[in-house]
Amino acid sequence: MIVMKFGGTSVGTGERIAGVARIAGRVLTERGTPPVVVVSAMSGVTDGLVRAATTAASGDTHTYQLIRDELALRHEQAIGDCGIDSELARGLKAEIETLLNWFENLCHSISTLGELTPRGLDAVSALGERLSARLTTAALLSQGIKAHLVEATEVIVTDNAFGAASPLIAETTAKAQEILLPLIEQGVVPVVTGFIGATVEGIPTTLGRGGSDYSATILGSCLPAREVWIWTDVDGIMTADPRIVPDARTVERISYAEVAELSYFGAKVLHPKTIEPVARRGIPVRVLNARRPDHPGTLVCANGAPEPVVKAITAIRNLSLISVEGSGMQGVPGVAGRAFMAVARSNASILMITQSSSEQNICFVVRTVDSPAVVQAVKAEFELEMLHQDIDRVASQDDVAIMAVVGAGMKGVPGIAARVFSALANVGINIISIAQGSSEYNLSLVVVQKDVDEAVRATHREFALDRIAQ
Ligand code: ASP
Ligand code: MG
Repeated sequence: MIVMKFGGTSVGTGERIAGVARIAGRVLTERGTPPVVVVSAMSGVTDGLVRAATTAASGDTHTYQLIRDELALRHEQAIGDCGIDSELARGLKAEIETLLNWFENLCHSISTLGELTPRGLDAVSALGERLSARLTTAALLSQGIKAHLVEATEVIVTDNAFGAASPLIAETTAKAQEILLPLIEQGVVPVVTGFIGATVEGIPTTLGRGGSDYSATILGSCLPAREVWIWTDVDGIMTADPRIVPDARTVERISYAEVAELSYFGAKVLHPKTIEPVARRGIPVRVLNARRPDHPGTLVCANGAPEPVVKAITAIRNLSLISVEGSGMQGVPGVAGRAFMAVARSNASILMITQSSSEQNICFVVRTVDSPAVVQAVKAEFELEMLHQDIDRVASQDDVAIMAVVGAGMKGVPGIAARVFSALANVGINIISIAQGSSEYNLSLVVVQKDVDEAVRATHREFALDRIAQ
């Protein structure tokens, strides 16, 4: 059986939802087994819900009402456009009305309290998937395909890390098998809300923004599925962002480890945690285009292709390079450890670390939004050392970006870094800092942000990624 997930734009209008139902129906006919369908909220809906909750918490009782009206209009229009039977449509409209009333009441309570807890935010932001899954179920039924709505709160059991919950695999496996398998055996397509789960006590949680991919691979690994298909709006995973590199191509086959590097470094194809559950069980993932269902897309599996050595190039922007400098740091144990502990205390995550062997300078990259707090925390940590001038400077260089060159085939092949460096030198781009993990799957370079698009293009050209058969 296949678990397949449709992203926000793939369910973004009534017509698109009808298309989703057609794809699911086709898979059912071709394979004889219903797929499990996981849906995101309609594109932009989760952003609106988050805005409703946060504005309500600041005492604004107007914005959430506007958002309610927008949601009502958008979903009502979609019902009209996705070819739902009139009787089903009536019931669906009433159900949507009930959910929107509940949403309005919840926002009202948040505004009265003047406080938004992570738990409250999860309850509000989960609404988008609850709406889109109802529409998708009705669209399937209207096309004569047996379907049944499944709230993921009944199936995906998580810890209570609201806003970024992790699944409890044993509990989720038991529920998934108990609830989803009987439906499949009866030829019914289960339509599951993405992004959402619930604690053991049944309190709703979310898996983090963009988490519907993760929902699909969690379910795929718990059932287990033969494959997980992630339907997006591009032809699979690309060698680079086609908006930056117009001649970017689809990567035909890529390994779990390579994809993990890519999504970590800003390629928005998959939520970074997506690969974890399927990689554990060796379940292949396909990234497909819902607008062009016949395009083969990208296959993600345990063994990627050895060629080409560089698979894809990605960039992550709006970063700051923090440097801790001083001649007194040399040979003193614990400086790096203390610096990173200070960063951890400021709740920022580090994207990349470099230290030259002279030990007079440690650099690391954080997001620019985190930079002021990080600098403050590191300065506080080294107050004494700065007083004694063992550490001269803790500084932040803003407006930098990381370009990550990813490919397992880079391992053990000499000269890859040299080719990247000369490609950048040839177009006059200065490299500020470099890091390569010992896995050799990823070569990361820090450049000033305004250079990063050109750096990606130059590297893409150097490795002929527009031409090489992937
Ligand atoms: N709707 C959620 C979000 O926008 C989850 C998803 O789209 O995957 O973050
Ligand atoms: Mg999404």
